[in-house]
Amino acid sequence: MTDCVFCKIVSGEIPAKIVKRSADAVAFYDLNPQAPVHVLIIPTTHLAAGRDARGEDGVRLLGRTLAFANEVATELGLDARGYRLVSNTGADGGQSVFHLHFHLLGGRRLSWPPG
Ligand code: 5GP
Ligand code: ZN
Repeated sequence: MTDCVFCKIVSGEIPAKIVKRSADAVAFYDLNPQAPVHVLIIPTTHLAAGRDARGEDGVRLLGRTLAFANEVATELGLDARGYRLVSNTGADGGQSVFHLHFHLLGGRRLSWPPG
């Protein structure tokens, strides 16, 4: 999608500190980190949000993206102490970039419930 900042990160048009790439997903550090580790996990395919992942293709995309997030968390050493993997959806969810992404947050004790 031409006007999407995360599609531009996928293509390299906008620079980002990349953690890991696979054939269909990218992990990169958030510009405005909310924890010692704050990485965004995105599918390379543009979908506005998780609610748009439907049918067999949606199942495959979500499964592969979450499996990739697992690999990233392990490689960043987060498994032992734990972490949070969240996806904000739409206005009430607090979403500000409309390309499906998961926040991988770790490295400190996170509070719950979120504000
Ligand atoms: P949302 O609010 O949609 O759940 O999360 C969007 C996230 O993307 C925010 O945490 C924000 O800091 C991050 N972000 C927005 N623009 C950029 C960018 O150009 N590069 C990087 N690395 N992160 C970005
Ligand atoms: Zn996009």
